Amino acid sequence: MMKAALYRGPKDLEVIEVDKPTPKSDEILIKVHACATCGTDAKIFNHGHQRLTPPQVIGHEIAGEIVEIGSSVSGHQIGDRVQIIAAIPCGSCWACQSGKMQICINQLSMGYQFAGGFAEYMIVPNEVIRVDGVNRIPENLSYDEAAAAEPLACAINAQELINVGPGDVVLVMGAGPIGCMHVRLARALGAVHVTLADVNAHRLKLSADVVKPDQVIDMSQVDIEDAVKNVIPNPGPNVIITAAPAGQAQEQAVRMIRPGGRISFFGGLPKDKPMINIDSNLVHYKELILAGANGSTPAHNKQALELMASGKVKVSDLLTHRVSLDNVQEAIDLVLGGEAIKVVVKP
Ligand SMILES: [Zn+2]
Ligand SMILES: [Zn+2]
Repeated sequence: MMKAALYRGPKDLEVIEVDKPTPKSDEILIKVHACATCGTDAKIFNHGHQRLTPPQVIGHEIAGEIVEIGSSVSGHQIGDRVQIIAAIPCGSCWACQSGKMQICINQLSMGYQFAGGFAEYMIVPNEVIRVDGVNRIPENLSYDEAAAAEPLACAINAQELINVGPGDVVLVMGAGPIGCMHVRLARALGAVHVTLADVNAHRLKLSADVVKPDQVIDMSQVDIEDAVKNVIPNPGPNVIITAAPAGQAQEQAVRMIRPGGRISFFGGLPKDKPMINIDSNLVHYKELILAGANGSTPAHNKQALELMASGKVKVSDLLTHRVSLDNVQEAIDLVLGGEAIKVVVKP
């Protein structure tokens, strides 16, 4: 038997004893050592998710140790320390074949269609193994850090799409864990000036104290469109990343960005509030480039681990809280309460 956090529907998450799974010949069994929580877990807990049919073991930012390997699986060994991708591309559709695995039209996810990492043990399905989604954790990284590779991979995808690089003046709107990662990643890619903004003064301070952006904008106190002119050197930001589920931030970004700028709508909007109002002529005359962002590829996960291992993007100090699997509810509450940057569940 083993313990697992079973999600049965909105506001119904319980740690129960279930049978320890046995891997099929084309699967791997890992002992989960760390599964980080993110806003998506809190969203699922409160409202459910259209792609998730309960009951299911959730948790998708997963790191663990291989303890059993199916007879037909090669390239992995018992004892390997591994990080597991969350979004699983099919590898064969037009999107995957063109190198855009993050927008795979047949995408599946750990913790959605497959049991996730809020459990003592987890099957790594063949769908993950066959797209090279089982990544060795570099020796100098802990399981906890490796669990944060998946969200960093999503940030890498977004910044790759808008080509963040040397000389960029970047504004990150949203100071949650992913906003923190965007600040650090932009710096690692060569941005010369990075500003972090949030509507929640407490969260902004918590995050800014750790990632130390060049400037902060407390949107609870000032109008960001005025503040940008004061705190960001002329001619203003040429890259804006909206790492918040706020349509208003997207609208403001289009107005605040420098001509020729690039914007990432990183954070999706609530599904009942997906519409925004933007002046299309701003996009036209300013020659703006607007990009979406949808998860990451297996390669982005590998890149994330490398960036962390090389010290270019530090995440250890973003992991502010650790809880046992029995207290998974506390992890969700910490995410919802905004008192933590990132919470790691330790099964
Ligand atoms: Zn996540
Ligand atoms: Zn595909």
